[in-house]
Amino acid sequence: MTDPIRIDPATGRKIFATRAAKASEKIRGKGYSIIEDEALKTLPPPPPGAVFNAAEQAKYREFKEARAGAADYIRMEGEFSKYLEDVYSEPPVERPALDDECEILVIGAGFGALLLWYRLMDAGFTDVRFCEKGGDVGGTWYWNRYPGIACDVESYSYLPLLEEMGYIPSMKFASGFEILEYCQTMAERFGFYDRCLFHTTVEETLWDEDAERWTVKTDRGDAMRARFVVLANGILTTPRLAKIEGMETFKGEAFHTSRWRYDVDLEGKRVGIIGTGATAVQIVPEAAKIVKELYVFQRTPSSIDVRDQRATTEEEYATWPNEPNWAVQRRERLALISAGRTALQGNDDFLSGKVEDYKQRKQHNEDLSPEELIQRQLNTNFRIMEQIRARVDAVVKDPKTAEALKPYYPYGCKRPTFHDEYLPTFNLPHVHLVDTAPTGVSKINEKGVVHDGVEYELDVLIYATGFEWMGTGSFNMIRGKDGRTLSEKWSEEGTKTFLGIHSAGFPNLLIMNGPQGGGGQFNFTRVSEMHASYITWVLQTMQQRGVSTIDVDKAAEDEYAEHCAEMDLLSAPLRDCISYYNGDGKAKPGSLAYYGGGARWHKRRMAAQDSMAPYLFTPMARAAE
Ligand code: NDP
Repeated sequence: MTDPIRIDPATGRKIFATRAAKASEKIRGKGYSIIEDEALKTLPPPPPGAVFNAAEQAKYREFKEARAGAADYIRMEGEFSKYLEDVYSEPPVERPALDDECEILVIGAGFGALLLWYRLMDAGFTDVRFCEKGGDVGGTWYWNRYPGIACDVESYSYLPLLEEMGYIPSMKFASGFEILEYCQTMAERFGFYDRCLFHTTVEETLWDEDAERWTVKTDRGDAMRARFVVLANGILTTPRLAKIEGMETFKGEAFHTSRWRYDVDLEGKRVGIIGTGATAVQIVPEAAKIVKELYVFQRTPSSIDVRDQRATTEEEYATWPNEPNWAVQRRERLALISAGRTALQGNDDFLSGKVEDYKQRKQHNEDLSPEELIQRQLNTNFRIMEQIRARVDAVVKDPKTAEALKPYYPYGCKRPTFHDEYLPTFNLPHVHLVDTAPTGVSKINEKGVVHDGVEYELDVLIYATGFEWMGTGSFNMIRGKDGRTLSEKWSEEGTKTFLGIHSAGFPNLLIMNGPQGGGGQFNFTRVSEMHASYITWVLQTMQQRGVSTIDVDKAAEDEYAEHCAEMDLLSAPLRDCISYYNGDGKAKPGSLAYYGGGARWHKRRMAAQDSMAPYLFTPMARAAE
């Protein structure tokens, strides 16, 4: 057996072998199927005269207000902590606790961390260590392995480093299983496994001002020191459960979608699923293929757009590798259109550069104000939602079920979903939509779910109740210069960062994909790219200047927070519904994702790099004094 910690004779540094054995090796699955039925692959046209008039606006408002205050979630603590157990790997590899030092300690081993490691390696940083809660790499794609899982952003733009890896995904929307394997291949190729401590959860990160080092304590007894800490642990990392009376009394099997229990055989069982977000939309058609009865407990319907999955063509396999930077260019093109539905559909001719634009442009004579532009977008989104609602009527046979499946909120306000099998699934006799609007499921007993006086007896209950958005759970364990955690600072002062990456009083802490960090784009890989490149620049700049710490100016941070709030408020009408994007209607403007767009974020980044004004450096000598 390989020693879990060895010394590399060439560098004197530690090499780790802590990747857990894969108990999950037998799991194989697919995501979206290729559908031949043309009727399922096209949206009906918008009804004639569809305009977002006062009556329609009132309907949207009523839909929203009925649900206000209904969302109530709990963390998986105490008796619910069992739902967080790692069901995918063998038990953690035994290893001694570490109390040594490294230059850069990264929390997380998902796409963000893999990408960052590639950039750091390229820039010559080698003393880098990763801590990961799971037993292997992949992050989101490690934890989420439910049947039907697939990428929602076209995989040719979503998977990072395709050119470097010489890889082309097999489907336009690759399955989660293919993506997980891709992460594992990246990790093998980049020597990532040697540097990662798996099954290691960071519990405390303290800044030592005198030593100018972070002390990082973990659940494995480690107390490591690092000059830099990078948070790369995701945007939708912490799973959450709906808070439902009596949920602890259920006697059947229950689990959350991000810890799929493949040991629980669903064949021939009565299965209930709570929630109808992007996850449930992918699971329902697959679960319906095996279970005896399926009860889908819905509070708010998702918008179910056309998926139109396809396999990568022979021509694409043959030609793309000959086009320099084919994937980088494709991702940039996708970013150009990522505001609307077109991007999510992924217009292939535009994305591959065969045509110059993805739509026919209309000539506008007048200059529109930002408010008018938003109104125009709302009108367009209304027409799309009308098409999505018409699709429900066209596919779902039972009128009551069809009515319940129609969403009334601006397109994109909740994460738009795509599926060509989800709606037809509700025509199957053993699949039942239980409309629990507007309050949602509020009672569970030992036999199953009780709603409106009806008891739904279940053998298995699946929580598809999502994740905390922009709340990794790490923010309340990082203590900066004044002893406050990031969460404490943000709850007292409002969310305050610079570019979403620095936060004043937390020197040498860099946050990837956190609040205010250039999110609000559908393709988070692009955000990760931008952040990885910026973080590499920070480290190189510090090396060149011979400085020991970096912090940010409070005034620059305050100005950036104001800017984030302004951008959020400007586009808020586009997100006027109850959604995790706006903290279920409770988040302060500008406190979560950044809504200024990638180009504006980039401009601010470049301005900071040019002037260097926002940065506060400590000369190297001070630490040595
Ligand atoms: P969501 O937060 O989107 O969905 C949670 C669901 O639970 C909602 O439908 C919510 O209803 C429902 N819910 C909560 N409490 C109750 C209750 N008491 N009774 C009934 N229903 C309840 O989580 P998901 O896991 O679906 O998706 C999270 C995100 O993860 C996605 O938006 C997407 O960004 C990402 N994702 C990406 C995928 C991809 O790229 N392939 C696939 C899957 C997920 P309500 O809407 O009323 O609050």
